[in-house]
Amino acid sequence: MSTAPSRAGRPGLSRAAGAVRSQLGDPILRRVVAVVLLGSGLATVVILGFPGHGSVLRGIGVPTALLLPGLTVLTCLAEIAVVRLRHGEAVEELSLYEVALIIDVLLLSPRDALIATVGGLVFASGLQRRPVVKALFNVGTYTAATSVLIIIVHLVAGTPGVMTLHVLAGVVLATIAFTMVNLCCLAQILGVINSQPPWLIVRSEARLSGYMAVGTVATGLTTTEIALHAPLLLPFMAMPALAVTYAYRAAAREAEERSRSGCLLQLSHALAEREDVVRHFVVLVREAFGADLAVVMLDNDDVALSVEAAAPGSPRHGPIPRHLAELRRIDGPVDLSEDLPAGLRRMVVVPIQGGGRRFGTAAFAVHRRDRGWMTTGDISLLASLASALAVAMRGAEHLDRLVDETSKLQAVVEQSAEGIMVIDGDGLVQMWSRALAEITGIDAADAAGRPVIDVLDVPVEDEQMLLMPVSVAQPKAVSELTVRRPDGEQRRLRLAHSAIFTLTALVRDVVVISDLTREYRTDRLKSDFIAMVSHELRTPLTPIIGYVDLLRKRGERMTPQKRLDALNLIGDRAGHLSRLVEDLLLASRIGDNPDDISLRVSSATHDLCALITQAARDLGSARVRVDLPSVPVFAHCDAERTLQVLANLIGNGLKYSAEETEVRVGLRFDVTRLHVDVRDQGYGIPTDQLDKVFEKFHRVEDPMTMSTSGTGLGLFIARRLARAMDGDISVTSTLNTGSTFTLSLTYGEHRLE
Ligand code: ADP
Repeated sequence: MSTAPSRAGRPGLSRAAGAVRSQLGDPILRRVVAVVLLGSGLATVVILGFPGHGSVLRGIGVPTALLLPGLTVLTCLAEIAVVRLRHGEAVEELSLYEVALIIDVLLLSPRDALIATVGGLVFASGLQRRPVVKALFNVGTYTAATSVLIIIVHLVAGTPGVMTLHVLAGVVLATIAFTMVNLCCLAQILGVINSQPPWLIVRSEARLSGYMAVGTVATGLTTTEIALHAPLLLPFMAMPALAVTYAYRAAAREAEERSRSGCLLQLSHALAEREDVVRHFVVLVREAFGADLAVVMLDNDDVALSVEAAAPGSPRHGPIPRHLAELRRIDGPVDLSEDLPAGLRRMVVVPIQGGGRRFGTAAFAVHRRDRGWMTTGDISLLASLASALAVAMRGAEHLDRLVDETSKLQAVVEQSAEGIMVIDGDGLVQMWSRALAEITGIDAADAAGRPVIDVLDVPVEDEQMLLMPVSVAQPKAVSELTVRRPDGEQRRLRLAHSAIFTLTALVRDVVVISDLTREYRTDRLKSDFIAMVSHELRTPLTPIIGYVDLLRKRGERMTPQKRLDALNLIGDRAGHLSRLVEDLLLASRIGDNPDDISLRVSSATHDLCALITQAARDLGSARVRVDLPSVPVFAHCDAERTLQVLANLIGNGLKYSAEETEVRVGLRFDVTRLHVDVRDQGYGIPTDQLDKVFEKFHRVEDPMTMSTSGTGLGLFIARRLARAMDGDISVTSTLNTGSTFTLSLTYGEHRLE
């Protein structure tokens, strides 16, 4: 008995033998020839060295004329019959050839034994149509090994005729020698194919070959003894082999089913996930059906994806094989065993089609002749798997298209400057765009899944407008409302609703939201401005008109003093009007950009103390207290503009404080600048308004109520003038305590102009 390592019959080695065929180059051929020569030489030694030697054992009772052909046939059958054994995941193929060989050697004379063993092998090779080189190599190896075996048996045991210890020892020794010769010859060839030193191969295979040699000896001797003494029991010798074969088949079938189920399970996962489905299909289905080759060709592709049993995990792209190109149009499974390319014995081809779409063709083929491969049931299963692949591919196509469309839509939504939100029938937020998050100050993550009414802070009376301006009769509607952001800022929004209803119920409302805050503020600013300007113009105009009327009607009768007072008042109010118009013109000239200084200022050195004193005096109020050094303080400024700024700051101090309080003006110095502080004990300015008071038209007081007159332009112009003179104005204030406005200027040279 032997396993394949001792012959080119085991799967690994039959692969090697295939490689022998394909790679038949000089070194291999040389070794085959050497083995054949070795076999011939040793056979000659046997024939010439043991002339007239009888058989080791005698007494079977069959004439030699029948025994030789009978044992030759037996040897041939033993070579063909293979018992498969599983260990772990591997399969060993046990040949009974060596058992027959021992029987031949024990029952026949050396020459006849050689004829029976070599003849049986040659017949078996012919019957199995083994490739010539492979057959030659096997015959050469076995002739050499068998010759060694015969020589050793006859030298050690002689021909005692019955089983003796010598016979036993001879057979054991001879079998070991046989195994070694066999292994050495094989290692020569494998060494060339695998580019490995032959001794390494001998070392790795020696142990298994040794075990097998023991088995061979035991079986061979037992069979021979039974043949000699109880030939009727001989058929029972086949029982273990039969039992092993059936057990193997059952185990193999079960293992195959298990591995197929595993593969199909993996395939179903891969198809469900719709990722790289074709590759998974070709790899897993090949494995599930034990094909040597699997190829998938897609209709829209010029390359085929194929995977071979030799490299099961790495499918390769390559040109579409010619014999498969013709099969690209089949519309049902095709089972081929004729006209196949060299090396292929059977091929099953199935279309990849399903759900009305055809994607391509898949082919599975084997090199071996195996009638059990691909039963009708298997072919139907394969066809179903191919159509499952088609369905998955269709699904993947749809998914790709959907993902593509969704990402385009997503990009539109994300890049839109308008906010977009989607609300479901229950008023819950389903989508909240990036722009909307910016407008409302609420992140998409905080809004998603919550009722829109809770997400947006709108006045109670606007809630209905936010939620339900739409109806079945009017699915599109536009509403406007004010929303308070989490940071407290208010935004005016326009909501364009576009709703989808079932018969009566709201399914979805897509709302495009525009931020109107700027326009709204501009509108408010305009109306505030008109209100302010008309009020400011009317205030000085009323006394002017009144006094002009008085002068016209009773001027003649008025005392010169009263007339002069009336004229002074008219002049004063007209001056106020003129300053107002001047301010308006100036404000319209200065842009909103703080760096755009279109104000013209002259720069020279002036005594700041003198300018402060004059500004205070011009205002003519007894409430102003000026506290200044007695010496001149030189500042770099425009005298006119500085007077204008100081008048505004001191005037505001008087205007926004109670009558009985004072406005103090003082001077401070630091390394680089001079600071004029105008301190009042008035109403103060809220902290959040401190910066805003310098904005154009901004008034802390609501202009619509207007308890104090003013345009909201004074500080705006004053700060621009200060900055134009390389200075600035700053403010500190405490509500109900007072404010301090500070004009800072740079030092002037010690030379007055
Ligand atoms: P106007 O005084 O004409 O309104 P300003 O630009 O001079 O315009 O001032 C802008 C706003 O700043 C004023 O309306 C007022 O509300 C506030 N303000 C200015 N000065 C003071 C101050 N000394 N005390 C309190 N509030 C002030």
